[in-house]
Amino acid sequence: MSFFASVEMAPGDPILGLTEAFVADPRPGKINLGVGIYCDEQGKIPLMKAVRDVEQSLAKAENPRGYLPINGLKAYNELTQQLLFGADSPLLAEGRVATAQTIGGSAALRVAADLLKQTAGTGAKIAISNPSWGNHHVVFRTAGFELLEYRYYDKATHGLDFAGMLEDLGKLEPGTVVLLHACCHNPTGVDLDAAQWQQAIELMKERQLLPFVDAAYQGFDKGLDADATAIRLLAASGIEAFVVANSYSKSFSLYGERVGAISMVGRDRDEAARVLSRIKTTIRSIYSSPAAHGAYLVAGVLGNPELRASWEDELGGMRTRIHEMRAGLVDGLVAAGLPQFDFINRQAGMFSYSGLSKAQVERLREDFAIYALTSGRICVAALNRANLDAVVAAIAAVS
Ligand code: PMP
Repeated sequence: MSFFASVEMAPGDPILGLTEAFVADPRPGKINLGVGIYCDEQGKIPLMKAVRDVEQSLAKAENPRGYLPINGLKAYNELTQQLLFGADSPLLAEGRVATAQTIGGSAALRVAADLLKQTAGTGAKIAISNPSWGNHHVVFRTAGFELLEYRYYDKATHGLDFAGMLEDLGKLEPGTVVLLHACCHNPTGVDLDAAQWQQAIELMKERQLLPFVDAAYQGFDKGLDADATAIRLLAASGIEAFVVANSYSKSFSLYGERVGAISMVGRDRDEAARVLSRIKTTIRSIYSSPAAHGAYLVAGVLGNPELRASWEDELGGMRTRIHEMRAGLVDGLVAAGLPQFDFINRQAGMFSYSGLSKAQVERLREDFAIYALTSGRICVAALNRANLDAVVAAIAAVS
């Protein structure tokens, strides 16, 4: 009898399963709006110019391949802190931020989840927006958290249920972790504005909650600083402790290099140093130390003024293209007699909760070879001038 005889098949990942079905689909002209990847006008994942330049100089340098420290590359961590908190942030000057490079934003979430669970003990609770990226639930449940939800998306307006959100946050017990999306909320594309952030932050401060910001799309909506509004307002709020998990998968188009970081803010330098020591023991117990190549690429770009300018420029181009595709989709749908989709213009980032039903999404796939999530989430960043008309026509046909 095999040791594994009783192991049952795990349910497939809905997003990755969709990609498998897409790849296997023989129909020409098939379109994948399911997965969260930015594609350029040619439908390809871009290799950013600044990244390519660093990669070429790394190849020439023929560096030996030693281990990175447990918390990763020092320059990468410092540059990450500057990007998230602002180069002139008092938090950085005061040494209040403990940062470690992680294996993508996913490991940042997992390392923080394990550490926060150790600190909170048995009663660890986290409140997650309804809806949220599916892996948020998986990561925190696996780490031993009790999962709670706060209202977020308003189906009727396709916008934010801010009153519901505040009401739900206001009922949480002190010490509850609150997971927040810095910008470009996945899956809805619905974000808080600065005034709403301010109000939510005051409430979290008053209720002694622990804000945990997931920043996976910095630079994809308004710009690098504007997309860090939540982090900057938290830093200025007087809240003593909060957490930021960030990912460079999208902003550097480095998905498979697994580049991210966890940053934990403490009340002072001493607290941050103790927290960093715990981050390190947590990382050590899971994967010892992060992978080096992607970190050299990101640090090489961010640390070089010329390459950084080139990266910011290209990122700005990606942002503009997403905005254009979003507007193009809405214009096309309005022209097709569907003005009710104009809310898509108010959503931000790579995703839109299109409001399409499960049945409509299934028809898109069966009749038009257009793949979207059954929740109605579409990836606007996978649209381009060549496929936009087909998508508009298909949505019009199922509407
Ligand atoms: N958080 C959110 C909200 C995301 O959408 C993603 C990526 N889909 C991540 C974290 C994880 O990022 P990474 O791929 O870098 O692990």
